[in-house]
Amino acid sequence: MDPERFRKSLLDERERLSSTIEHLHVANSSSFEDETEEETFDNHLADSATATLDREIDYTLEENADNLLRAIDQALERIENGTYGKCELRGQEIALERLEAIPHATRCIDCQRLAERG
Ligand SMILES: [Zn+2]
Repeated sequence: MDPERFRKSLLDERERLSSTIEHLHVANSSSFEDETEEETFDNHLADSATATLDREIDYTLEENADNLLRAIDQALERIENGTYGKCELRGQEIALERLEAIPHATRCIDCQRLAERG
């Protein structure tokens, strides 16, 4: 498994997120008048919010985007220090399909499912 193949998608995702966060900061600090301008708004984060965009959703998105940005930064660090693609809990390799879907994943699917089950 070559972690380098994920570096670019992580960096791309990071760039998209940064502009989304920037947009959210702008949206939160200005009036609603210009919120019809969705062109610069990232699709997959914005889809659920476009019709009913309000401040509460904005703040939630911003929080999620901030968390995601941190997760991406950590994934990039793991590429640097050679631990990328290893489950943070049990240390086994995370399935390639999972990393392709979620390049910043820190757990294998088994641990993630256990965590979600609580
Ligand atoms: Zn695991």
